Parts: sequence; structure tokens; C-alpha cells
Amino acid sequence: RAKASDMHSKDCVKVAVRVRPFNKRERDAGSRCVVSMVSSSITIQDPRDSQNRRSFCFDYAYWSHSGFTRDNSGLWVPEEPGGRYADQDSVFQDLGEGILENALQGYNATLLAYGQTGSGKSYSMVGYGPNKGLVPKLCVWWFLIEMFLMSLQVFFSMLEIYNEQVVDLLSRGSRTPGGLRVREEQQRGFYVEGLRTVPCESVEQLMEQGTRTRTTAATHMNANSSRSHMLIILQLKQIFSKESITKQSNINLVDLAGSERQRSSGSEADRLKEGTAINLSLTTLGNVISALADVAVGKKVVHIPYRDSVLTKLLQSALGGNSRTIATLSPADICYEESLSTLRYAERAK
Ligand code: ADP
Repeated sequence: RAKASDMHSKDCVKVAVRVRPFNKRERDAGSRCVVSMVSSSITIQDPRDSQNRRSFCFDYAYWSHSGFTRDNSGLWVPEEPGGRYADQDSVFQDLGEGILENALQGYNATLLAYGQTGSGKSYSMVGYGPNKGLVPKLCVWWFLIEMFLMSLQVFFSMLEIYNEQVVDLLSRGSRTPGGLRVREEQQRGFYVEGLRTVPCESVEQLMEQGTRTRTTAATHMNANSSRSHMLIILQLKQIFSKESITKQSNINLVDLAGSERQRSSGSEADRLKEGTAINLSLTTLGNVISALADVAVGKKVVHIPYRDSVLTKLLQSALGGNSRTIATLSPADICYEESLSTLRYAERAK
């Protein structure tokens, strides 16, 4: 069986940056656009110092397909838009189709959405209303492929990592105190014990159920779901004869916690614990991705810190060579610091 870790080819790692339209708050504040694009390279300018510009080059850079039009005052529209406008279909073509192909060949894959809260992670991954995102589009394809390829079965699970604890978002039972256990087996790697796994059908319903559980759980804990990581695992099994499974692969789809510095909600102690845990998964992910990028260019890397957080444990077999990151950001000057930090993170993922 082929493993993602066999594939350290740079070609299989792709990073896209997507700039969402201005929102009402930004428009009302008369925000200026601090982002510009030329092809797939993106430049961000410090609103307080026009000499301070930084440019980054990615595999793809997109403006959004809607809501990015010139207003009368002309304040919030980039003067030279450059770059490319992309709708949900174009994003799927660039990031989703490769994952489909690789998974059919038995390779694991990971798709991550990274960015500040409100920058478009859920829009890109899940979508809103008719603007379906990457997850439902991928699932529909699997459903179609399953009908043609009788040997293929696809399973769906959905979980949340909050404070380094795993919550099953499809479980109908009560929550396991302390979260579900993450275990390790030699063949299988890390997995979540007792996670509900269902056939990949009626995905919209499953995602609705999962999202509802996520919101309810957050309310219970007096928390905000933007502080947790959501992970959808699509498990593909291709069975060539009755007993033997010859190809199996996992696709991990991750809507990461908001990348902004975590601000207070509960008590000081809770806040510290939560902040550390959330940053732990994000920081560790960044460290793992950087180490893998070094491996890809032939640098000697002694240690890849997969074991340092729950998220990186679960993604271990699927970050190696086959990952896609969509980094989302606001075009507005008031989000400059967060957007710059998102671009820096995305640059490490290349
Ligand atoms: P996040 O998941 O990062 O917190 P959301 O995906 O919920 O943010 O996006 C915040 C708001 O911005 C939503 O109302 C969403 O519809 C809108 N939005 C985000 N990205 C886009 C986009 N690319 N095109 C149009 N609207 C977008």
C-alpha cells in the first residue's frame, strides 16, 4: 500500500490564498484595501507606512467572485486588481481535483483552511447556501465515483478538537468526559477510538448535524466554535476481491481554529488553558509543515514534532507530500496585522 510519506514531492503541496470581499463593518469604517495581486503573487502594504510592503508568491491567489466592486468613493477597491477572481468551482478545480485523483491512487491527503475568524475558512471549506465549498463538492464527486466503481466505498466522520480534546460531532450519545481517546497502532497510525463513521451519503445532512453539535457544545462550554478545529475524515476503501482491501486512503479536511490571538471568554485560568491548547495545535502544525518543507528540499531534519499535539497526530500520515492549504484573509487595512501573519504562515506551508 502506498503511503503519503512516500511522496515527498514538492508538486503535491499546494498553497492558495483567497481574499474575501469587504464586509459591512469594514465598508462602514471606510477601510482601504491593503492587498494587491499580480498573477499568483500577493503584496500587502502596511497602512501606517506605505514604504513597508511585503510580497509572497503562492500556487494560487484569488479575489472573491462577488462583492468586490468599486464603490463611489473608490476607497476600498484595489487600484490595480491584478490576480484572479475565483468562485467556489474554480477553487475546487485547483485544490479539490488533485486530491480526488491522488486518493483514488491510494494516497492520503490533507486540505487545511487557515486564517483569522471571519476571513472565509468556512465559506471555502463548507460554503453557505448555494455557494457550496470544497467539502460538499468533494463528497458529491465521491458519491458519483462510488456508483461507477463498485469496488469503492467511502466513509465519513466529523470531529472537533477543542482544548486538545476530541469530540465526535456525529455521535448521538452524550459527550465522553475528557473527550475521545487518540490511540496509536503500528499499521494504522494515530486514530480516534470509537469515532462514529458512516457511509458518505446525504452529506449535507451529516454536515448540518455536525455543525449543530459543534455550536451546541461550544455554547455549553461557554466557548466560541471559532476556537476549535473541525476535522472531517473521508475514508476510501477500494476492494478488489471479496476479502482483501488493496487500497485505502484518508482525506482529511480541516477547518482550523481562528488564527487570531485568542481573546478572553471564561475565567483567567480557563482562558490560559484554552489559549495554550489552541495555539499548541496551530503552532505544532506550523512546525510540522516547516519541517516537511525542509525535508522536501533535501535538508536534513532530525525530528518532525507530530506527537506534540492532537491535531498533528491525527494528520501524521497525511501531511507528508500531499497537502493543500487555503489561507483566507480580509482585504481591509484594519485586519493588516492578522492578514500579514496569515500570509507568513501560508508561506511556511509552501
Ligand atoms: P471563518 O470561517 O473564517 O470564520 P466565514 O467563512 O464564516 O469565516 O466568512 C465570514 C463571512 O464572509 C461570511 O458571511 C461569508 O459568507 C463571507 N465570505 C467569506 N469568504 C467569502 C468569499 N470568498 N466570497 C464571498 N463571501 C465570503
